[in-house]
Amino acid sequence: MKSCLFCKIVNGDASSDIIYENDALIVFKDIHPIAPVHVLIVPKKHFNHLIEMVTSEEGRAVLANVAEALPDIVRAAGLENRGFRLVNNCREEGGQTIAHVHFHLIGGRTLARELP
Ligand code: AMP
Ligand code: ZN
Repeated sequence: MKSCLFCKIVNGDASSDIIYENDALIVFKDIHPIAPVHVLIVPKKHFNHLIEMVTSEEGRAVLANVAEALPDIVRAAGLENRGFRLVNNCREEGGQTIAHVHFHLIGGRTLARELP
């Protein structure tokens, strides 16, 4: 997806502040953080949104990659001894603004119980 911002970041064609990377995914700081820690877990392969990802076998394998890497990502974010929130905004009504599936890892302060 040549025009996709997160594909450009994955390919190194747009800059980002990367805190963790492996073969399947990259994790970089959100440009508009809402908490002291706010990073985006971005699969390297382009899926438009979460449901598109989990309805293919390949996508489910990528989701498993995210699960496997999560403890290392949490450590890289400095949250190993703390809690955090993991969020996926799915499609427009779910608040998704970038159509390349990603998960927000948010922490570093006590988060309100209510979802916005
Ligand atoms: P969402 O609204 O769930 O699709 O999340 C998109 C997130 O990407 C937002 O929190 C934006 O602040 C963030 N964002 C947009 N452009 C960039 C960028 N160039 N580098 C890092 N984060 C970005
Ligand atoms: Zn993309």
